Amino acid sequence: ATILAIETSCDETSVSVVKNGREVLSNIVSSQIESHKRFGGVVPEIASRHHVEQITFIIEEAMNEANVTKEEIDAIAVTEGPGLVGALLVGVNAAKALAFAWDKPVIGVHHIAGHIYANHIVDELTFPLLTLVVSGGHTELIYMKEHGSFEVIGETRDDAVGEAYDKVARTLGLPYPGGPRMDLLAQQGDPVIDFPRAWLEADSYDFSFSGLKSSVINTLHNAKQRGDEWTNEEIAASFQASVIDVLVTKTMKAAKDKGVNRLLLAGGVAANKGLRQALTEASEKEGLKLTIPPLKLCTDNAAMIGAAGTFLYWSGKYADDRLNGQAGLMLD
Ligand code: ATP
Ligand code: MG
Ligand code: FE
Repeated sequence: ATILAIETSCDETSVSVVKNGREVLSNIVSSQIESHKRFGGVVPEIASRHHVEQITFIIEEAMNEANVTKEEIDAIAVTEGPGLVGALLVGVNAAKALAFAWDKPVIGVHHIAGHIYANHIVDELTFPLLTLVVSGGHTELIYMKEHGSFEVIGETRDDAVGEAYDKVARTLGLPYPGGPRMDLLAQQGDPVIDFPRAWLEADSYDFSFSGLKSSVINTLHNAKQRGDEWTNEEIAASFQASVIDVLVTKTMKAAKDKGVNRLLLAGGVAANKGLRQALTEASEKEGLKLTIPPLKLCTDNAAMIGAAGTFLYWSGKYADDRLNGQAGLMLD
């Protein structure tokens, strides 16, 4: 099957053509970061307007680069949620218009299912498996016993990891989005500050990052008053050490408890060098097979939506004309 996929849930306008769920014929990503930077975060109205301006061109570009005709496309897949409702609507309406004009089925895909299926492009999924999803809006441990079946066994009770990265970065005066910059700083410093780790209840796979975030902010504030000197590199390295310690420890425990030997890392924060390295080492030690997407497939892109959408297409899960953008769409 050849799927045209559209992703507009946040601040990337992306269109991709994916064959049989794994072969990426094209994956065009147009980022709006420059437009949102001066506001320190994504402005929903600006995001929607950019998507509207870009979407037609990006669809054309993706079709051209893939070198396929509309006759060769079997279905249109699109992110239906979660995300910014105005942004989602641009993609959903474009998908519905194309599906109508080309007489193809349209398929609604959950954004996080997309992040998970980015791994299928790298290495075919085998079950049961456990995915650690770490992104701007989500931090979840998801158990899958087969394609399309998602059981969220743990999730953040407050901030998502990416959100915590961006907020701490902002406190350090780094430009948006702070995650990648924090990662670079962390690699250049030592984790000399012992920030708290939120382990929560012994049997819980949930996460919490707001306490850590406050602790970093308090430490910076107190250091200023006492005249202590921490470098940004030391702060970033210490923050990152706390984050990674909790993420990796909980993931390995969940994998053991659930009896899985296949692990996936997914979402924008999967681009984090320290996390990739720590999870790779832990997986090797425990004899688990780990898959991590390349950077371009970690952050928002339409190829991952095409990969997830292919399985929905194969199982006949088509949407109808009531398909709509859903800001709070649930995965399980
Ligand atoms: P969601 O997928 O939950 O809807 P989103 O789509 O906005 O949220 P993604 O695009 O998946 O999020 O990821 C963006 C997040 O990843 C941002 O918070 C960004 O700071 C963070 N991020 C990107 N690269 C890195 C990195 N190397 N280290 C840490 N964080 C990173
Ligand atoms: Mg983004
Ligand atoms: Fe995302």
